[in-house]
Amino acid sequence: MDNNATTPIHPRVADAVRPFLDGLFGNPSSLHFAGRDVKEPYETAREQIAAIIGAKVNDVVITSCGSEADNHAIKGIAYGAGKGHIITSAVEHPAVLTCCRYLETRGFPVTYLPVDGHGLVDPADVKDAIRKDTILISIMYANNETGTVMPIADIARVAREREIPFHSDMVQALGKIDVDVTALGVDLASFSGHKVYAPKGVGALYIREGLALDNLIHGGHQESGRRAGTENVIGIVAFGRACELAREEMNERRETVEGLRRRLLNGILERIDQVRLNGHPLQRVPNTLNLSFEFIESESLLLALDMKGVAVSSGSACSSGSSEPSHVLTAMGIPGPLCQSALRFSLGCENSPADVDYVLDILPGLVEKLREMSPFYKKTF
Ligand SMILES: *Cc1c(COP(=O)(O)O)cnc(C)c1O
Repeated sequence: MDNNATTPIHPRVADAVRPFLDGLFGNPSSLHFAGRDVKEPYETAREQIAAIIGAKVNDVVITSCGSEADNHAIKGIAYGAGKGHIITSAVEHPAVLTCCRYLETRGFPVTYLPVDGHGLVDPADVKDAIRKDTILISIMYANNETGTVMPIADIARVAREREIPFHSDMVQALGKIDVDVTALGVDLASFSGHKVYAPKGVGALYIREGLALDNLIHGGHQESGRRAGTENVIGIVAFGRACELAREEMNERRETVEGLRRRLLNGILERIDQVRLNGHPLQRVPNTLNLSFEFIESESLLLALDMKGVAVSSGSACSSGSSEPSHVLTAMGIPGPLCQSALRFSLGCENSPADVDYVLDILPGLVEKLREMSPFYKKTF
């Protein structure tokens, strides 16, 4: 139940890449037969990625991961402009936040917009933050910790009115809700393979036709000269196939996962008192459930669930290992102790109702045991 951290490789994705493990090894840039044999599947994969995000095929650049796509978008605009102001939000993924903090040390002022109690950025705040020298706005579509979905189309409209490039990290939205970069009106958007049942090490950046963007990785002429490096054929073919499956199965997946999430949430609320839901109750991706279990250190509950074979996350995978409270929940105004007691369940295609019921069986006992150790806990029922 930690599918926002990563997903298993879908068996049909594995089937699609098998020929490339078993002999199809050419370099797509080669003019001979071995190169030609991989060139076509590689371009098919780009079409599959373009199709699910509503982009023109030539506007999709393959990267090595979602983090690279974020860095390419943000540094590409910043380096191209040479100087200027950047607007982002306080709840972005570290791939965006850390990149912006780095650019601050290089002389680019950054505004980190606040969010409301549900984790939403107000488009009016974006408008107010725009300065004469603003060069980029970067706001994520779906938050990885809470699942809250941002009003991207409204923010894009604000950006377009002022002719400021707008980037959105859409890694957690892909395959979960409709993603149409054209309809949403974004100029740049980031995606990652391993969050949609493809392997790790492949991502994509949508670059709207005509947008000027500096390169991040210089070298050969791959990706129409926009991203050097011999193509990760296996990763790209897998990502393409994963996008095709996600497109075919989106509604079915959405319904299944939403049903499981509801079963998990209702079950927990029936069985355990003093639990708080974090994130927007309606504007959210279907698979993510972020809950604060009052009087408990989430790390202890995570480890107790781990011993029982259940994988969940406290904060996000990228910030765990540190006992810092989540920057996302903190920005939402959630008090420190409730941030420290937040646990994220993120469901995926492989979860079943039996998995949910198993968690509902063991969780109340684990919570009770941990709460009994807290000097502050008072039973309410
Ligand atoms: C996972 C994730 C990323 C980073 O993607 P990688 O492919 O792991 O580098 C970026 N943004 C969000 C919202 C994510 O969830």
